[in-house]
Amino acid sequence: MFVNVAARSGVEAVTSKPANREQPATAADVVAETDGGPDADAAEAPAKMTTVGLRAYYGKSEAIKGIDLPVRDKRVTAIIGPSGCGKSTFIRCLNRMHEVVPGAHVEGKVLLEGEDIYAAGVDPVRVRRYVGMVFQKPNPFPTMSIAGNVLAGLRLNRIKLDNPSERIEKALRQAALWDEVKDILDRAGTSLSGGQQQRLCIARTLAMEPEVILMDEPCSALDPIATARIEDLIHELGASYTIAIVTHNMQQAARVSHYTAFLYMGELVEYNETDTLFTQPSETRTEEYITGRFG
Ligand code: ADP
Repeated sequence: MFVNVAARSGVEAVTSKPANREQPATAADVVAETDGGPDADAAEAPAKMTTVGLRAYYGKSEAIKGIDLPVRDKRVTAIIGPSGCGKSTFIRCLNRMHEVVPGAHVEGKVLLEGEDIYAAGVDPVRVRRYVGMVFQKPNPFPTMSIAGNVLAGLRLNRIKLDNPSERIEKALRQAALWDEVKDILDRAGTSLSGGQQQRLCIARTLAMEPEVILMDEPCSALDPIATARIEDLIHELGASYTIAIVTHNMQQAARVSHYTAFLYMGELVEYNETDTLFTQPSETRTEEYITGRFG
C-alpha cells in the first residue's frame, strides 16, 4: 500500500535564491508580481490525496463539515481561512493525527493513492510515515543532537539504515541546512536558531522519505528572514513532494502554493489554482476574506 516510494526521485540540495519580498499589499499583488505563482503554467496534477465527505468532530462538536478536496501530486496546496475555521483540524485528518485527541473522531474518507487511510486494518503509524508533518513551533527533541534529530522519526519507527550518515546528509541538504550544520552534527538540535530548528524538523520529516508533507503554520514562530528561507524551501520541495500547508498569511499562500483552499466555519468555500483564487474568486465570501473584510 501507499506504493512506489522509490519511484519518487528525491530532491537535491536547495540552491535557489530567495524571491524578492518587497512586501506587496495583497496576495493578488503577490500573484501578479510572481507572474501567476509557482509553476503557473504547469498542467493540472493528479490528486495524491483526496478527502471525500470528510467530517471531523471533537466530541459532538463538528469542526469539519463534509469536505471534498484534492491534494495534488508534487504541488503545494495552501489551506487558508480565519482562525478557528478548521485548517489545523483538516490537515491533521490527512495523517490520522486528529484521532489522537481524546473524544475526537473522523467520518468520510481520506484517500492516499486511492486507498482509504481510515479503512479497517490500516496502521496509523504507517500512515504518518508516508504523510509527515511539520508543526508551528520548531520542536527538535531537546536531548538529541542535530544528527540524532534527523534520524529520530526513523528510530521511533524502528527503521534501520545501512548508511545513516548518508541519510542525515541527504535530508539536511534537502532542508537547506547542511552547509550550516555539517561541522556541528553532534551539537544539540536546540542549540540552533529558530529558523534552523524548523529546517531541522523539516529534515527530520524528509529523512522518513514521505510521500506527502503537511505543514501547520510552519513560519508562524519565525522572524521574516527565517520565514523567507522556509518559504523558498517549501517552494523547492514542492517540485518533488506533495505538500499541504496551513497558513493565515495570504501573501505566503500566494508565494508558495499552486492551489489554494479557502475554509470557513468548517466548510470548503472555494478551491482553485492559487492565482485564480486570489485574482478572480468565484465566491463572495472568498472575495470578502482575501480583501480583508473579515477574518
Ligand atoms: P484553525 O486551524 O483554522 O485555527 P482549528 O482546526 O484549530 O482551526 O479549530 C477548528 C475548531 O475546532 C474550532 O472551533 C476550535 O475551537 C475547535 N478545536 C480545535 N482543537 C480542539 C480540541 N482539541 N478540542 C476541542 N475543540 C477543538
